[in-house]
Amino acid sequence: MRTELVVVGAGPAGLAAALAADARGVRVTVVDAADGPGGQFYRQPAAELNARRPQALHHQWRTWERLRDGLAASGVRLLTGHHVWTVTGGPDSFTVHALLGPGQDEPATVHADAVLLATGSHEHVLPFPGWTLPGVVTAGGAQAMLKGGLVVPGRVAVVAGTGPLLLPVATGLAAAGTRVSALVESAGPRQV
Ligand SMILES: Cc1cc2nc3c(=O)[nH]c(=O)nc-3n(C[C@H](O)[C@H](O)[C@H](O)COP(=O)(O)OP(=O)(O)OC[C@H]3O[C@@H](n4cnc5c(N)ncnc54)[C@H](O)[C@@H]3O)c2cc1C
Repeated sequence: MRTELVVVGAGPAGLAAALAADARGVRVTVVDAADGPGGQFYRQPAAELNARRPQALHHQWRTWERLRDGLAASGVRLLTGHHVWTVTGGPDSFTVHALLGPGQDEPATVHADAVLLATGSHEHVLPFPGWTLPGVVTAGGAQAMLKGGLVVPGRVAVVAGTGPLLLPVATGLAAAGTRVSALVESAGPRQV
């Protein structure tokens, strides 16, 4: 398969880049390891759950609608379930190597003139005493359970750590019915 631009990552950054390039006449293929577009920010509930109001779990939903509808109306090709493990070639021609599906056992390649990496961020977890106990999950994990599976990790929660992710996680859990008994930020107010 050959295209002009491969964008790795179908989160908000990758989708915005893909749509901008598509609007300028570039042939774009977006590849993502997940089952659908959205990334961390706009992680969507599994289709089988038939969520009636997925927007209740999100902020800036209009941006997502613009990206989602823009993608559907564009010429951008989206390849989901593609785990990219390396990119070879360059500087004028690249091969993006991916492994398909949950088992990641079937190889696939996409050839392109250019590659844009929009693979996002990941949570950094520092071990602490008790972090492997049942009921202890990372903030991002709790949010992924909620957005992707429509479940909360418990009826009462303490949300602790550092950084702005704690705020949408705490409000998301509260909106879903969990009593958030404390939001504990380890950084000082100026650092936040
Ligand atoms: C767990 C978690 C939860 C977050 N929740 C929020 C939130 O609620 N609100 C907020 O403002 N910010 C949140 N953030 C911060 C978040 O990273 C950004 O707001 C936003 O998602 C960044 O967009 P992005 O498109 O750069 O990356 P992402 O949204 O992270 O999208 C990156 C995409 O790249 C794909 N990808 C990564 N590596 C590969 C690979 N090797 N092969 C194929 N595909 C790959 C991923 O599947 C993903 O779909 C969260 C971050 C994390 C880690």
